[in-house]
Amino acid sequence: MHLARFPRLRLAHLPTPLEPMKRLSRELGGPEIWIKRDDCTGLSTGGNKTRKLEFLMAEAEAEGADLVITQGATQSNHARQTAAFAAKLGVDCHILLEDRTGSTDPNYNENGNVFLDHLHGATAEKRGPGLDMNAEMLAVADGFRDGGRKVYTIPGGGSNPTGALGYVNCAFELVHQANDVGLVIDRIVHATGSAGTQAGMIVGLKAINANIPLLGFGVRAPQPKQEENVYNLAVQTAEKLGSPGIVRREDVVANTDYVGEGYGIPTEGTLEAIEMFAQLEGILLDPVYSGKGAAGLIDFIRKGRFKEGEKIVFLHTGGAAALFGYTAAFNYGDRPLAVAAE
Ligand SMILES: *Cc1c(COP(=O)(O)O)cnc(C)c1O
Repeated sequence: MHLARFPRLRLAHLPTPLEPMKRLSRELGGPEIWIKRDDCTGLSTGGNKTRKLEFLMAEAEAEGADLVITQGATQSNHARQTAAFAAKLGVDCHILLEDRTGSTDPNYNENGNVFLDHLHGATAEKRGPGLDMNAEMLAVADGFRDGGRKVYTIPGGGSNPTGALGYVNCAFELVHQANDVGLVIDRIVHATGSAGTQAGMIVGLKAINANIPLLGFGVRAPQPKQEENVYNLAVQTAEKLGSPGIVRREDVVANTDYVGEGYGIPTEGTLEAIEMFAQLEGILLDPVYSGKGAAGLIDFIRKGRFKEGEKIVFLHTGGAAALFGYTAAFNYGDRPLAVAAE
């Protein structure tokens, strides 16, 4: 398997750091928790989509695209990173944003990632919930093509075999870093959504026979659907890489117990996880993905499902820009700033 055979625009800040989280580990009293900082990929506040876009945007460039179109939820980190990447390449970016939460909060609808989409010069249009968003996007793309544009479309989350190559690369990078510092990783956990991150990681880990189990905490789909999506994409990604058959169904494990009411709606556990990472480690999580993944991690440790002595890597997929769309969830406006006790 030779990733260098695939066109890639090397724009991410890599390798991202691999760091111990000592205070969080002590607080939880269980495993030794490390963090892989893919929130620090360098483009417009970072995040996991930048690794995928290195491969996707190389394809767009090779095809001579002058317009990149993608889609996501209102506070999509993928849309924001695509807008930033397009700006860097000097191509136009158009985004379809799906209202998945029904929120009328002006911060949710205009701040955070939405604000950054505009700042990067992207144009956007909105859609109501429940549509086939990839079909909506393809219809919009046809309209632009009729107008003479050279369009490259990117599916939601950048999750196709090309995008997943970014996480094959991450798996190689992470194992290499762990080897360098003598860290024996017992398990990797992260938030899983449109499946490209988990699929790419699984393929990368299998390709080098790392023998490290991976657990994805879901943010939307029920477990059977999530695992099926990840598995199908992993199979296609392995084929693209010339290694068909390396992924088995049982390599794909997702837990969807921490979704709560639905996509984009943080639970109490999500908010607690965000505050713990912020206050113990100085690290920003997000309310849609990494906060839910971390809530799962914390709860698994509290329930003794991850044990003392284990070494766990939390893959931080980013998303902090969305925090500014969710300030109301934290109620800080009603709280006085903390004052030191007399
Ligand atoms: C998109 C995203 C994920 C999920 O990654 P997928 O590849 O879509 O499964 C996780 N965390 C953040 C912050 C994201 O933006």
